[in-house]
Amino acid sequence: MEKSTHERALKLVMNKLGCSEEMSKLLDSSQREVIVEIPLKRDNGDIKVFKGYRVQHSDALGPFKGGLRFHPDVDLEHFVSLASVMTWKTSLVNIPFGGAKGGIDCDPNELSTHELETLTKRYVEKVGMLLGPNIDIPAPDMGTGEQEMAWILQAYAKNHGHHPGVVTGKNKQLGGVSGRREATGKGVAYFTRLACSRENIDLERARVIIQGFGNVGQSAAINLSKMGANIVGISDRKGAVYNEKGLDVKTIAEDLSVSKKISLEDLDIDGEYITNKELLEAPCDILIPAAIEGGINSKNAAKVQAKLVVEGANLPVTKDGEDILLDKKVKLIPDLLANAGGVTVSFFEWSQNAQRYPWKDEKVER
Ligand code: NAD
Repeated sequence: MEKSTHERALKLVMNKLGCSEEMSKLLDSSQREVIVEIPLKRDNGDIKVFKGYRVQHSDALGPFKGGLRFHPDVDLEHFVSLASVMTWKTSLVNIPFGGAKGGIDCDPNELSTHELETLTKRYVEKVGMLLGPNIDIPAPDMGTGEQEMAWILQAYAKNHGHHPGVVTGKNKQLGGVSGRREATGKGVAYFTRLACSRENIDLERARVIIQGFGNVGQSAAINLSKMGANIVGISDRKGAVYNEKGLDVKTIAEDLSVSKKISLEDLDIDGEYITNKELLEAPCDILIPAAIEGGINSKNAAKVQAKLVVEGANLPVTKDGEDILLDKKVKLIPDLLANAGGVTVSFFEWSQNAQRYPWKDEKVER
């Protein structure tokens, strides 16, 4: 993986603050990095062993906080970077949480619901002693959502009793808040609108490309489309679709919600089917990478046509990629700010769980 922009930013800040070398080392390293083996008996009787991870970067400002990712391409290095991003993000938006990240190296699309439930609960058996509403609080990330959070809550309760605040991103019946699912993408849309007004980009005429049409990508697309923007390109892990006249993102999202196994290529979308690589280089005014790390890098940044890049995903632009974009005078909203809406609403959820007192939906929205 190419170096991330955060390493450079961290060095700059430490120099500015006059941090000693030891203090810099402390801020740069995780407090705890855990790898566990999780054996799973598949539905067909085979045994498969998965690797699970939980990296706790810092709890200096509050309990560790960070998503749980189920994806085939994860490793310890990924989680170490992503956990530190959470520390800086919660600190930037002034939320009393630290930073963590974890997950399992699995492809959830290839597992049955029963297998996923067993795997998630086994993960909690292995790392449950590190979790807790005042210790470390997972939330949804790539490949996980309300269902996985419910399984974690259930598995954690076995040994610790009912503590809804041990996870955020739950469904409402279990103590979640309405709007958490959409919060990250909605925040991305709000920051995009703000940047457009500052940069004199007419959002209502803007052509927007969004890489990754999952939780973050869909909500960003639907909210930006409500604001009048023209969503011309979207993608998932199998490929992308582009239509310069605009895509009906709300209907596409509804069609995808029928089953987790459906991808864009299974739908009959009015547009040209292209690759993820081609999508990032296609004509647009605003590009929102909302999928994986390092999608915009030294190889393709020069070909990005957008005037504004909004980091919906964590670490979607590498350090070399960012240098090239900045040379081209492309404006960039960094992940720490652009996608902080999710952890902000997670904090509201966690606060309500601690108070045992649900807030009104309007209060969360406000
Ligand atoms: P998700 O699993 O709901 O959606 C991910 C999307 O990316 C899917 O469309 C998937 O098909 C696509 N994808 C997966 N691998 C890909 C690949 N190799 N190339 C192109 N597309 C690929 O995940 P999400 O929750 O939307 O998370 C997306 C990003 O946003 C991640 O970087 C995550 O860390 C970040 N993020 C998520 C939240 C949240 O609340 N869910 C909060 C902050 C940041």
